[in-house]
Amino acid sequence: MDFVAGTFAEPQRPEGVIEDRSPADVTVLLGRHGWAASQVDRAVDAAREAQPSWAARPPGERTALVRRIGEVLQAREEDLARAIALDVGKPLWESRAEVQACVAKAAVTVEDGLRLVAPFPAPGQAGAECRFRPLGVLAVLGPFNFPVHLPNGHVLPAIACGNAVVFKPSEIAPHAAELYARCLAEAGVPPSVFNLVQGPGPVGAALAAHPRVDGVLFTGSWAVGQAIQRACLGQTKLLALEMGGKNAALVLRDADLDKAIYDAVFSAFVSAGQRCTAASRLIVEGPPARADALAARIAAAAQRLSIGHPMRDGVFMGPLASEAALAKFLAGVSKAPERVLEPRPLSPGGLRGSYVTPGVHRVRERTGSAYEREELFGPDLAVYHAASPDEAVAIANATDYGLAASVHTASREAFERCLSGLQCGVVNWNAPTVGASGRLPFGGLKRSGNHRPAGLFSTLYCAAPVAILQGEPRLDRARLAPGVSWVDE
Ligand code: NAD
Repeated sequence: MDFVAGTFAEPQRPEGVIEDRSPADVTVLLGRHGWAASQVDRAVDAAREAQPSWAARPPGERTALVRRIGEVLQAREEDLARAIALDVGKPLWESRAEVQACVAKAAVTVEDGLRLVAPFPAPGQAGAECRFRPLGVLAVLGPFNFPVHLPNGHVLPAIACGNAVVFKPSEIAPHAAELYARCLAEAGVPPSVFNLVQGPGPVGAALAAHPRVDGVLFTGSWAVGQAIQRACLGQTKLLALEMGGKNAALVLRDADLDKAIYDAVFSAFVSAGQRCTAASRLIVEGPPARADALAARIAAAAQRLSIGHPMRDGVFMGPLASEAALAKFLAGVSKAPERVLEPRPLSPGGLRGSYVTPGVHRVRERTGSAYEREELFGPDLAVYHAASPDEAVAIANATDYGLAASVHTASREAFERCLSGLQCGVVNWNAPTVGASGRLPFGGLKRSGNHRPAGLFSTLYCAAPVAILQGEPRLDRARLAPGVSWVDE
């Protein structure tokens, strides 16, 4: 269902239907959602009309709404977590963590994010100040892998800064998106300040390129981010693009191996490898035999991971989000040079879903192949060896992406040296690549993002700074520019 101008309804003239089947068990139909690109016009018009009066409300009112949204999301944690788990196959423990991150975002926005867009004076210059104003109507386009948390990470700052929002969720998670919209309605978001338009790519394309949209807050793949950039050429709207990753975990000679292996297994296989920050490469400092030994230990640990229905207790890995994602993943790993553990489709308990076992591969000779460069977005880890920390950093950087990395070492000095060389927006020390704090900026370099970090800094791209200088109200005849002679008339 869509949520436009304060009303939940199916589009009157649908152009298609999303058949929402759970990737955990495709025999289960979760719902059917009609969609129509024409809904984009309705939603943008509604948002346009509502935005000026929302921006004119006292800031405290907007802050109170964001806090209330946090409270409703908290109260609905279990419903939302179940919807996420069934829509995208993410185990319940992880889905609950996703909702908790949404709840935390309300507090981060109000307590920290809004401080970044508070007015401030220019030091030492009387009457010079900066104020921030909303951009207007913002389009939020979400990915499937965090179908609520990542859009929420844009929606709350956008609303808090006085914008109106049109949200187009991933077509893989329409049920979770609708439930999220119902939470916002329950919290009392004014009609049309937040709108939901469901649908596949063409609906997203119509929204992103819409001439009356002032900014696009997109999280998804590089390919779609590029399509949005191309479609918006010649427009002046803000494009904030958070895209893919090909992230590396570096294991230096002095690392605690058990900890490094645990972190690598977690980083590579949590969410079935479908995190933008997932480790898809492990770079081991030392001779090739050391990397071989680590690859074997990781493969052994991966084989012991529990894979099953996301609603079952004790499951670490659910299915991939769709049959198409599974087919793409298997095609990608089939090009890997040397197998340590080959992924294979699975039917746990006879379930018909997109389940797959983890893969581990060894890259001995670097050839710059598609396997080495491209994001597979599934549970696979490629293991490399490097003669030195500098070579490990060079291998980590030999990708078009630059989102996350981790360095495993006992030495702060070695970490600092790697940190200065790694071309990434997130660099973790003795921690998984997937670790991130909502109270810090989040985002990547190169094909991972266009330098507009999300996380803490998300308010900064929901508001435009306006620089104001205050002059003398009356002409000061003693301070004319050189060469100007003034004659009183
Ligand atoms: P995707 O790019 O396929 O889709 C993202 C959204 O864009 C969906 O809502 C989709 O319907 C919409 N879309 C598709 N075509 C469009 C078009 N032409 N114009 C406008 N919108 C369009 O991504 P996905 O498969 O849902 O998510 C996985 C990707 O997201 C991975 O690449 C992953 O790394 C990335 N991701 C990045 C971050 C980050 O913060 N950097 C976080 C999560 C996921």
